Formats: sequence, C-alpha cells, structure tokens
Amino acid sequence: MTDLSRRKMLVGAAASAATLGVAAARAASFGNPDSPPEGRINGKSPTSLDEPGPQNPVLASQFPSFQDPPATDVNGMPLFWASFNNAHKRFQNGGWAREVTQDDFAISQDISGVNMRLATNGVRELHWHQQAEWAIMLDGKCRITIIDEQGRPQVADVKTGDLWYFPPGLPHSLQGLGASGAEFLIAFDSGKATEFNTLQLTDWIAHTPPDVLAANFGVPAEAFKNTPLDNLWIFQGEDPGPLAAAQRAVRSPKGEPAHPFIFSLGDLPPARQTRGGFVQIADSRNFNASANVAAALVTVKPGGLRELHWHPNADEWQYYIKGSARMTVFDTGPRAQTADFRPGDVGYVKKSLGHYVQNTGDTDLVFLELFKSDRFAEVSLSDWLTRSPPQLVMEHLNITAETLAQFPRDRPDILPV
Ligand code: MN
Ligand code: MN
Repeated sequence: MTDLSRRKMLVGAAASAATLGVAAARAASFGNPDSPPEGRINGKSPTSLDEPGPQNPVLASQFPSFQDPPATDVNGMPLFWASFNNAHKRFQNGGWAREVTQDDFAISQDISGVNMRLATNGVRELHWHQQAEWAIMLDGKCRITIIDEQGRPQVADVKTGDLWYFPPGLPHSLQGLGASGAEFLIAFDSGKATEFNTLQLTDWIAHTPPDVLAANFGVPAEAFKNTPLDNLWIFQGEDPGPLAAAQRAVRSPKGEPAHPFIFSLGDLPPARQTRGGFVQIADSRNFNASANVAAALVTVKPGGLRELHWHPNADEWQYYIKGSARMTVFDTGPRAQTADFRPGDVGYVKKSLGHYVQNTGDTDLVFLELFKSDRFAEVSLSDWLTRSPPQLVMEHLNITAETLAQFPRDRPDILPV
C-alpha cells in the first residue's frame, strides 16, 4: 500500500468510526492508529469488557499484554510465548529435567530447550544424539566429558555463566559438582529434539547380544551380567575427584580437540555497552567449536529497551533468566502482537521479523537470544534510518530533519545510549 492510499484509508476509517460514535477511541491512539479497531479501548458499551466466564486471576495476572494488548497490536500470529514454569518435570535420584519442544510450542522449529538439575555428584549418563547441544550454566558447577570423531577427549569443569557445545553425534556426559550441584539450560538445534529420547550407553549394552559384547570388548559375556536392563538417564554418582586426575585418566596420543567444547560467556567483555545495558556474544567467531548455535546474553537496566531490530539469518529462541519484559513481534499483514516474559519463560521470533524487548520491571532484565547459525547477525532500525538519505526517511515518516538528527546512530543495541 502506498503512503497516500494508507492515509486515505485511515481518514476514511476515522470518518466511519465517528459515525459509529467511537472517535474517542481513535484519539487515544495517537501516531499509531487503532486499525483495525480491536484493542480494549474500543469497548464502550457497559458490558463489552466484562469477563463473566471462568477465570484464573493468578495466571491471568502474569499476562498483562494478553489481557490488555496495546492499541498497536493486530492479532492473528502464532503464539510465541512458552515456559519451563509449566513444563512437566521428570525426577530421578540425582536430578531432574523438563523441556520445551516443538511438540508443545509449535512455532519453535529451529530450537528446543531443556532445563536440567544435577544434584551434588548427580550424573546425566553417557549418551549422544543426532542434534548439536548448546548449554549455559545457570547455577553451580558441572563436569563435562566428551570425545570427538578423531578420538580426542576433553574433560572440563564449568561454572555459572559458562557454555558448552557438543557437535551432533559426539558422545558426552555431565555431572553436578560441589555442595550445590548444577542447574543449566540446554538448547538443541532442532525444535523436535528431546532429552527424553537420546542414544544411551546403558540402553545399547542392554540391547546387544551377550556374545557380541564378549567379542567386541574381548571379555567373557558374564562380565556384563550386572549391567542395568533399564537406562540410567540421570543417577546419583560418586564424587568424581580432582579434575586434573580425570584429565590424566583420559589422555590420548591423538591429543586434545582442536577447539575447546566449553566457553566462558559470563566473563566475556560486552560486545556493546550503553547506559541502558550490555550484550555479550558467543558464536563460532570466538567460541570456535559452536559451529551451529550463536548466542547473545543481554542485560537491560530498569527503564531500558533492547532496540527495534531483526535478525536476517535465523529464527531467535529466547530464554528469560532475570527480571521481567515485554516484547512485540511485527509481521507482514501488518500484524503485531505483544507478550510478557518472566524468569524461565521462552520467546520465539521468526527470521527477519521485527521486535523489541523492553524491561518492564525495576531490576535488571537478563535474557538469552539463541540462533541456529554459525554467527550472530542483526539489523537495527535506527541504524538503517540514520544511514539512509535523510530526505527519503523524512518523506516516509513525516518528521523534520531536527527529529531525524536526534535518532541514535551506530546500532546502540540497548537504549538509552
Ligand atoms: Mn546430551
Ligand atoms: Mn532479537
């Protein structure tokens, strides 16, 4: 639609709205026409805003932007909100896990997420899977073991804020350490992947004929008479001892992996910092092993805004760690929908759809942006507009040169600059 025809339509809509007696509704939506009229502001008759049916006020109160969407919203988009807070937990002696996959969260085609707790010395058993595994430590300490396809092992300990990346098919294990064990978030580079359906050491041994086991390992078949018939998945292990001893025990003449499978994101200097907050980025350019997952850890101070932007290379899967936020996603149509996020919640933005994330609380907002890509990439709206011919931009937005000159330059990422 051209600028002119849109304006004609808006004027026409305003005239008919006045005829219907709801002109006051439009006056309240300055600069952003409530068109089509579908916000709460349209409800003028005495009972149009009532909710006489069943309600759960505690749950509803968590979603102010669903209860009362901004007048700029236009509905019709798939749900882009999910949460670990209402995900079913599987408990075992040694820890627990819960997940958000595409089965429950239809939009999340590129990434599924797992939130796992390992008790002190609790072990996630030796296993592998067909997807890449990216993870960030949320609390405590954890020991990882892995071996690559060239027979080069790595054993390492990670702490809060550290990452690991296990390429598809490489076998690994995890173990909680110290008095408080570990809690972490795992992301697989497929929305269909699940932590409850992996290739596990105990399963394979239990489902291989004993004579084949004997021939394969060069020991009598009876040696396996006590191996578990059901997989362990998560179990309570023993203290694994000092890291150096474990590293000595696995040392191989093939050496160590070309690139470490762990990375300290929390300790990384910000890629960008403003008065409004900062962004730390880990992708294959600095975390070399992370060939198919790129991550940004974003901290937004109270009153701050992660600027209007989009990502040209991949869908964005978000995990909210601290604070509270609201995000509006802008799609063709035009459509735009707003949702609220709290710790443990998950957001999803399809490739190249516009969005912002606003801190709605009075504490720091911290969240992760994950992409199924080798690199983080972003286009900033203000950067685009301040690097386009000024007259062109002024003609689009009906703004003055003075106004345009005040727009932030050079991709601030987080406002205020
Ligand atoms: Mn795994
Ligand atoms: Mn984004």
